[in-house]
Order: sequence, then C-alpha cells, then structure tokens
Amino acid sequence: MEGTSLLSLPEGMQIEQIQITENGLIIAVVATSPTSCCPCCSEPSSSVHCHYRRVLRDAPCAGRQVQLVLTVRKFSCRNPYCSRKVFAERFPDFVEPWARMTIRHGQQITSIGLATCGKGGTRLAARLGIHTTRQTILRRIMALPESSAESILFLGIDDFSFRRGLRFGTLLVNLESRRVVDLLADREADTSAAWMRQHPDLKAVSRDRGGAYASAAAQGAPQATQCADRFHLLKNLGEALEDLLARHLSASRKRQVEAALEEQTPAWQEMTQGAIAQQIGVSLNTVRRWLISGCPETTRGPYVSRLDPYLPYLLQRWAQGCHNIAQLFRELEAQGYRGTYASVRDNLVRRLQFAGRKTPAHASSKTPPLSTPRQATFLFLRCPQKLRVQEQETLVKLCQIDPEVDLAYDLVQQFAQMLRTRTGEHLDAWLDQVEKSTLPELQSFAAGVQKDKDAVRAGLTWWINNGVVEGHVTKLKLIKRQGYGRAGFPLLRKRVLHAV
Ligand SMILES: [Zn+2]
Repeated sequence: MEGTSLLSLPEGMQIEQIQITENGLIIAVVATSPTSCCPCCSEPSSSVHCHYRRVLRDAPCAGRQVQLVLTVRKFSCRNPYCSRKVFAERFPDFVEPWARMTIRHGQQITSIGLATCGKGGTRLAARLGIHTTRQTILRRIMALPESSAESILFLGIDDFSFRRGLRFGTLLVNLESRRVVDLLADREADTSAAWMRQHPDLKAVSRDRGGAYASAAAQGAPQATQCADRFHLLKNLGEALEDLLARHLSASRKRQVEAALEEQTPAWQEMTQGAIAQQIGVSLNTVRRWLISGCPETTRGPYVSRLDPYLPYLLQRWAQGCHNIAQLFRELEAQGYRGTYASVRDNLVRRLQFAGRKTPAHASSKTPPLSTPRQATFLFLRCPQKLRVQEQETLVKLCQIDPEVDLAYDLVQQFAQMLRTRTGEHLDAWLDQVEKSTLPELQSFAAGVQKDKDAVRAGLTWWINNGVVEGHVTKLKLIKRQGYGRAGFPLLRKRVLHAV
C-alpha cells in the first residue's frame, strides 16, 4: 500500500514486485477491486473470466525509467440484455484502453514537446529519464484536442508573420480569458469573417487599423462593435507628429545657423589675431605662423580633427567675408581636406557660438533643443506629470520653436488624454480643432481617423485593446523559433493553442 501511494497508483492497485534492472524499474501491479463495470451496459460484475498482462511505460522514478507490468482481469457481463459477454477492467484516469503508456507519462511527453520542440524535446526527455522519439512528441501534440467551443464575447485579432513580410497568419484571442482561441492560416478578410460567423456571441472586436480585419468584422460579426486598438492609434499619431517635428526642427536648426553666422560677422571681421588664438585655444605665435605660412600643422591639443590643419585658412576666409559654407567646403576640398561638409559647418557654428559666450543671456536664448524628431515625439506623447525636470525644460524649448509646434503639443496631449482616460466622446471636438489648425501632418492623421471614426471612438472608450494579442504574437514568435521555423501551420497552431 505504501508503494502504491509512493508511486501515486490509483486506488485498488497493488504492487506485487519491484525489480531493479539496468534499464530502470520493472513494477508488477495487480488490480484488487472486487468488481468492475461493463463498458457497454455499466452493470457491475464480479465474475472474473481470465487474466492477461499489459506492459506500460510510466513516469520515471528518480531518473529511472519505469515499466509497469499490469495484470488485468477480464470479467463476464451477467446482464442478459447486454451484447457484451466479456470485458476487460478499465482504469479510466490512469491508462487508456490499448495505450502502451500511462496517461500521466503521456502528459509529461506532451508538456516537454510543447515547451521545446520535436528534436529538442527528445534530448530533454532523455535527460529526465524518459525514452521517446521525435515522432511520438509530434504525434502527441497533433493529437491534442481542438480549441474549445467556448463562448467568446470580446475578441482581439491581429496578424503575425510566418515569413517576415511575405506570409502572414491571423491570431485570435479571447480578451476576457486572455487565451488564444484560434490561429488562421492567412490574414484575408474572408477567412476571418468565416471564423467570426461561427461565433455569433461576439460583442466587440478589437483590431489594428488595417482594413482587412475591419471588413472581416463588418462581414462576419456585424452585431459586434469594432474597436481600433489604442496602441496603434498612438503609434499612428506619433508618426504624424514625428513628421511635423522633423519639419520644424530642421527649419529651426537652419534659422539658428543663419542667425549665428549673421550675428557674428562683425565680430569676426574685427577680430584680432590674439582673439582668434584665444578662441581656438592655441598660442598667438601659432596663429601668426599659420596665417603667414598658410602651412597646416597638426600639433594642437589632445584631439586633432581632420579639419584642424585647415582651420587657419577657414578662419582667414571667413574674416575676409566669405560666409558661404558650401563655397568654403569646396575650397578646402581643393586643398586636400577629406572630411565632411557637416564637420566644416558644425565646427564653424560651434566656434561662432563660443565667441558669443561673452553675452550669456543672448547665447542661452539660442541654445538649440538638441532633440531628434523621434526623441521630441516621445516627449510630446508622454504624460506631462511623468516627465523629469530636464525633460520638461526640453519640452518647453521645443514648444518655443514655433507656434505650430506649441499647437501640435496641445492637440497631441488632448488626444493622449482621451486615450488615457477613455473619453472618446471628445473625439469629434478634437477632430474639429485639427481641421481648423494649419498642421498638415495632424490633419492627415485626422483624415485617417475620420474614415474609421466609430471604431476609433470605441477604441478610445471601451476597456478592450490589443495589448494581450501583441503579447501572444511575441510568444508565437518564440514558439516558431523553437521549432527552428520548420513547423508547418497545423503544428504551429496546435503548439500555440496549447502553449504552456
Ligand atoms: Zn454489459
């Protein structure tokens, strides 16, 4: 009895003998319950007709393979109306009729297969004392039941790629249970619509902003509310905003360069050799030598850029009144300079700004925001209360670039606020404001929203979104790679549906 509970054998089974061999344990087991029920008529019978033996593989014990030699009895059915005369006793939760391994052992192999893959599963199983083959693992995964016919009210739908950019499938998630309910082999609207028709309970469908799933939901689940996913909305808004900021940042940078060059012109023309020396950080003699000889030297400072040897010439030309940077660049190239145009321009601007430090207030007013359009977009979209002090300062500077940028910030924050607080009822007012603004990038975004307004409003109002679907897509990618990308769709589908 102790051995029975140690090995977790079902009630009514008794261990007769345990034999330790080279390959593991051979355990002889008999069933002791006095009666068994006929599988046809369910009538209990106690008339033992005969015995036979079944050899079953079982879960390993302390790393050793376990073989159960089970003595099974056959009973005679005494029910005169039953068509069955003789039946073998059954152990429903322990082993299936005709199976050659116990249910628990089969589950172990399936779990290993789901967590790894065919070949990898075989290797891991061997380490755990389980002897199995790649084919067994794959067969067991394929034998797993189909998705359950549970009622789905809130559906999340998104695509995933079999081969990036080439072949796509569709992932469907029950947003209440957060479980994958099915995988479809393509992302065609008809396929998804056919699936949705089989689920008439659908109340809402959360989708990205693509057209295929919108028309799938319109065809297959016309009763359901469509919700545009908030993440995709914010992403689209961010893209529009990034274009707008890129335009303004580029214009602002251009203005700054021009202003810096303009303002410093008199200073440079009047500059003495001593002032030039101080500014560049070399001795007066060096400046004199450079200006007289025109001979490039590379002796200054710990860092020497490609431009350094040409600086004297550059500064001299500047002082002479040539402020066309492209022209100066061409002249330097003719002298053998192999650096970039940007290096010439930046160097010149930096030196001019350095010269401008004598008037600090003036200099600080033209400090560039130093943000890329992407960084700026990130600052614009984030919740203002969560910004650090430095980020807030950058944000203020960005908004000062141009009244359009300031307006864009206001509009973007209004939209983000709607999204955060699920107040989609303000969408129409927001669209009106954008229409009246002079911001082409945001107007283009708003035009897209206008086409899909009901779904966007629902997305900004309902609790559902596609976050969990995106999470499952990430998991799917991992599963796909575990099989080295070789699993066909049916196997991938089973593995995703039953992922552990
Ligand atoms: Zn019977």
